[in-house]
Parts: sequence; C-alpha cells; structure tokens
Amino acid sequence: MTDCIFCKIINGEIPSYKIYEDDVVYAFLDISQATPGHTLVVPKKHVKDIFEYDEDLAAAVFARIPKIARAVKASNSEIIGMNILNNNGKAAYQSVFHSHIHLLPRYADDKFSM
Ligand code: 5GP
Ligand code: ZN
Repeated sequence: MTDCIFCKIINGEIPSYKIYEDDVVYAFLDISQATPGHTLVVPKKHVKDIFEYDEDLAAAVFARIPKIARAVKASNSEIIGMNILNNNGKAAYQSVFHSHIHLLPRYADDKFSM
C-alpha cells in the first residue's frame, strides 16, 4: 500500500532500526519505546489487522515470534520478561493499520503498565 507507513519502512523509504528480517517479516524498534528494546514485528504482506490473516500467514508470522523475542531478550541482560501484544482496531488502541506484534521487554521496577 503506497500510503502505509509500515510498508514504507519495510521498503526502506522511511528509516528504521532493524532488528530482524526475512522473507515473511520485518522487525524494528518502535519509534516511541514503551520500554527499552520495544520492537514491532510486521508481516511484509500488507494486512490491516488479525482479521485479515489467513492460516498460512498466521503460521508463518507467529512461528517467528519466539526466535525474534529471544534475540531481543539476548540483547540486554536486564530484560527479565516480555509482553507480546497485538492491537486490532481503534477500539483496541491500534494506531497503525498495518498489522504488527509488539515485543515489550520488561525490566525490574519498570514503570510500564497496561
Ligand atoms: P499500535 O498502537 O497500532 O498497536 O502501535 C503502533 C506503534 O507504531 C506505536 O507504538 C508507535 O510508536 C509505532 N510507530 C508509529 N510510527 C512509527 C514510525 O514511523 N517508526 C517506528 N519505528 N515506529 C512507529
Ligand atoms: Zn502496509
């Protein structure tokens, strides 16, 4: 999609700090880090939200989450946990309408609350 900010990030038209990339997903640091290392995993295929995934895309994207989560965790020994979140629709606080999964590292005494 030409006017999608995450498609532009995937295509390199908008800069991002890349964490991981393969043929299915692109993972990069969130521009507004809820906690240090806050990463977004996005399917390269433009799908708006979880309701647009077919089984093959879901299997491919979600199969990659543990590996990327381990890489983020390994990047900082202070990470002691991780929330994995996926917002779908304005009512659920989705603000970018190219589906993405938040990897939110947790630290002792961090101030993040959901
Ligand atoms: P949502 O609210 O849709 O679940 O999450 C969207 C996320 O995308 C937000 O956490 C926001 O900070 C992040 N975001 C929005 N625009 C950009 C951008 O241009 N670059 C990066 N790296 N993250 C972005
Ligand atoms: Zn897109």
